[in-house]
Amino acid sequence: MKYISTRGLSEPLSFSEAVSEGLAPDGGLYVPEKFPDLSGEMAQWEGLSYAELCFRFMRHFADDIPESDLRAIVEASYRHFDDPRIAPLKKLSEDLFILELFHGPTLAFKDFALQFLGNLSQYLLAKSAKVSNVLGATSGDTGSAAINGLLGKKGVRIFILYPDGRISPLQERQMACTGAENVFPIAIDGTFDDAQAIVKEIFADVEFKSRWSLSAVNSINLARIMAQCVYYIWAWLKIPAGERDGIEFIVPTGNFGNVLAGWFASKMGMNVAGFKVATNQNDILFRLFNTGVYETGVVNPSYAPSMDIQVSSNFERFLYFLLGGDCAGVRGIMGQFKSSGKYVFDKFSARGFSASKMDDAQIARTIADVYGKYGEIVDPHTACAFADLSHKGVKIILSTASPAKFPDLIEKTISIRPKAESLERLMDKPIVNKKMPADASAVRAYIQSNGIKQL
Ligand SMILES: *Cc1c(COP(=O)(O)O)cnc(C)c1O
Repeated sequence: MKYISTRGLSEPLSFSEAVSEGLAPDGGLYVPEKFPDLSGEMAQWEGLSYAELCFRFMRHFADDIPESDLRAIVEASYRHFDDPRIAPLKKLSEDLFILELFHGPTLAFKDFALQFLGNLSQYLLAKSAKVSNVLGATSGDTGSAAINGLLGKKGVRIFILYPDGRISPLQERQMACTGAENVFPIAIDGTFDDAQAIVKEIFADVEFKSRWSLSAVNSINLARIMAQCVYYIWAWLKIPAGERDGIEFIVPTGNFGNVLAGWFASKMGMNVAGFKVATNQNDILFRLFNTGVYETGVVNPSYAPSMDIQVSSNFERFLYFLLGGDCAGVRGIMGQFKSSGKYVFDKFSARGFSASKMDDAQIARTIADVYGKYGEIVDPHTACAFADLSHKGVKIILSTASPAKFPDLIEKTISIRPKAESLERLMDKPIVNKKMPADASAVRAYIQSNGIKQL
């Protein structure tokens, strides 16, 4: 299988190459050149363990990695989950299910992709005798999931900047209490924007970047999307065969990566009725699907912070397929969007897709309602998926984070403080971080004294 850039001006690459590259040199994102028809094979995957299902799926895409190596990478990636089912599917009512994607090490669904990407990266680096210093800025979930994906990995050190005192104490502990020697959390005296500006400045220093083999915390890596297809197929197989084509997946959405993975699976034979894109008050996607206008706005911080986005970076992948692979069309639309912050589609029709949105007051009310009605405590991101349950047929809500990550809000709404053992354990551990002024030269010096060097 070859992977091509959505913008069509870069060379097609193998899986390993596309994963190592991250963003394509022409600024596009890598997508599979075609979707294989796996419908016959999928029917035989019922009853497999999660890791085995993942391996059977990924071998079609990671076809330049020897199968025994791929199997080891996959098995290592789902070993540190706290539920043997990995992604338990819970029934809430006759036709309403919730797919729990928060049993990984950082208690959010990003672990499904970043545990895999971490193991894969270590494997690819070792194979090419390379090392890497990963550098990124985070305001929360992605940073902790990326760190946990790379914990203790050989040949990789990870430097993550975050705004000191401005992320939740739990999130800080998830990054700064790991005890791993290759993890360097940096608490910047400034805002998230300051932290991100420093990272940008350092990446712009081409000589430094290449001397220290710097790579980015990758939010658009091809491997992430492909690994996320698996839990959709897993859940789909748990529903009786006769009801599968009627399923609607409801997906709390920010960067569009999660829901895109489900749509990819549907192109390969996982037949369903559709996908609902559930947003919070930052509703760029809600507006797009309902009006055909793709326009950035200001981000309003919400109770569901991992969905507080201005631009959905993975939307470009979807656009490429909507346009039937017309790369010039993708370049035109993305160019206009970048320069004016807006693109108006003539007729925007994405078959099978619908969208909903929820503001903070509704999120709080929903957490209470869902608890009252089903006895289930949901986190604020998952709550957004309850906005519209009007689909006739089986609905599967993707639950993207553990409620234990948001104890204050949950306690305020239902007077119960949810806990998770892995978070409790972090409470006794020392915070190991480096406090620094919002200054790129300080961060550069820190990387120079702690980074790993190519021999
Ligand atoms: C990242 C994240 C989302 C949004 O996922 P996308 O792939 O960006 O659409 C939703 N919920 C939680 C808890 C997240 O961490």
